[in-house]
Amino acid sequence: MTDTLIPAIDEARAEAERLDLRTRLFIDGDFRDAASGRRFTTENPATGRPITEVAEGGPADVDAAVTAARRAADDGRWSRLSPGDRKQILIRWADLIEANARELGLIETIDAGKPIADTVGLDMPETAACIRWHAEAADKIYGQVAPSPEGTVATITREPVGVVGAVIPWNYPAQMAAWKLGPALATGNTVVIKPASTTSLSLLRIAELGADAGIPGGVLNVVTGPGDTVGEAIGRHPDIDAVAFTGSTEVGRRFLHYSAETNLKRVLLELGGKSPQVVFPDVTDFETIASNVAIAIFWNMGENCSAGSRLVVHRSVKARLLEAVAAELEAWRVGDPLDPATRIGALISRGQMEKVLGYIDLGRSEGARVVTGGSRILEESGGWFVPPTIFDNVRNDMRIAREEIFGPVLSVIEFETEAEAVAIANDTPYGLAASLYTRDLNVAHRVARDLRAGVVGVNAYSEGDMTTPFGGYKLSGFGGHDKSLHAHDQYTELKTIWIQLAER
Ligand code: NAD
Repeated sequence: MTDTLIPAIDEARAEAERLDLRTRLFIDGDFRDAASGRRFTTENPATGRPITEVAEGGPADVDAAVTAARRAADDGRWSRLSPGDRKQILIRWADLIEANARELGLIETIDAGKPIADTVGLDMPETAACIRWHAEAADKIYGQVAPSPEGTVATITREPVGVVGAVIPWNYPAQMAAWKLGPALATGNTVVIKPASTTSLSLLRIAELGADAGIPGGVLNVVTGPGDTVGEAIGRHPDIDAVAFTGSTEVGRRFLHYSAETNLKRVLLELGGKSPQVVFPDVTDFETIASNVAIAIFWNMGENCSAGSRLVVHRSVKARLLEAVAAELEAWRVGDPLDPATRIGALISRGQMEKVLGYIDLGRSEGARVVTGGSRILEESGGWFVPPTIFDNVRNDMRIAREEIFGPVLSVIEFETEAEAVAIANDTPYGLAASLYTRDLNVAHRVARDLRAGVVGVNAYSEGDMTTPFGGYKLSGFGGHDKSLHAHDQYTELKTIWIQLAER
């Protein structure tokens, strides 16, 4: 049975009060306290009040988790299971996540400030779908036989890298975990994963559901705690073979140092962005484009690596489009994330809210004009709410157009010619996503090729689905891709076996 029914507000509040939260490290198939016994407080972004205390792991706990993961990798309890059996266990896990979507969604909503309609209706079903998609591939990927000379046989196969470390952000806590765990586990690895310290709770429950589904002890380990201790210990651990990181470019860089200074583990980085949405003058369907533009920047409070934070729009259609965006935003209610009518919840933390408000002040002082939003709201709730904020008259060299704000702030930049649009769109240190809107097929193809980004949406803000790879150019990524079968490559080693046959 699935439980993706979004609760009414009173039910949601009552159920959130009764949640039985998992708050300890999950190592070797069991929950345990941190070796130090320390705990830290996790807060509800919508109220600013504490939810509970979570075990504060440290390097000793990472060691214990890696020891368990190494043992499980070496004895083959997971990697040597038949791919079909591994698949069945992972599918059972996906089914359990879906069956518990309401509980998991509530956990995510109180811990991350995300609207309940999104967490129950999208995040958890997508998390389950991601694990199921990768599980389905486990027994469908073949090796190759090379065209080697007569008298020899050469096979090329893929083997699990071994122990995978994963360090993930707080904006999609469950989904980001699934993007790593799905392919890493489907290809037979064992994993030590660290959630962001602001959002530990959903992953701990998801790991427990994994054990219920039959994932053997030691195969999936969760160490909660701060980035500069637990995250660094994972990055530097000599017995971790690959590390998959999603987060800021600044921290991502550190993982390359960690690896270079230790065991040269493979490093896979999914990082930040400053993605352009380019609107050409021939467009006519302003309502649809306005809805796409709003979703691309304001969905998930703008806490999106691929957020379309720069609207690069032709001078002749700017006024019309901004009017349509304003009309669209009337339906975007900001408020209590437990209310199913809420489209925009709270920012993750006071620090993040202050960072976003700081950028809004900066935009004003740089000479851009606030069209809508622009200050904190719902302060009486104790939560960290900032409404959709649009800056007009932005130049691409302003800091609000260059730096990742990671909040609901859109910069509007005008252009005159196609060449100028492409130049502005590409004039950024990032290259994660981009979208363009036109009715002209020639412009669509030309510009889609010209844009320096890993994912380009044409007449769509979409990043694609689980069948398509996701990863960035330039400062947006390094070493691999999430999603699709390309994600399997990054968690496997390519092995050649060359066999000399005896003469007849
Ligand atoms: P962050 O870089 O601050 O933290 C990410 C993770 O790294 C967290 O688990 C954190 O605890 C850990 N960490 C922090 N300091 C560390 C250190 N010194 N050593 C090791 N680990 C450390 O990012 P965030 O604030 O959690 O997330 C926002 C960022 O993530 C944004 O830049 C956003 O663009 C990016 N992001 C990218 C993608 C993508 O797929 N490209 C997806 C989501 C988020």
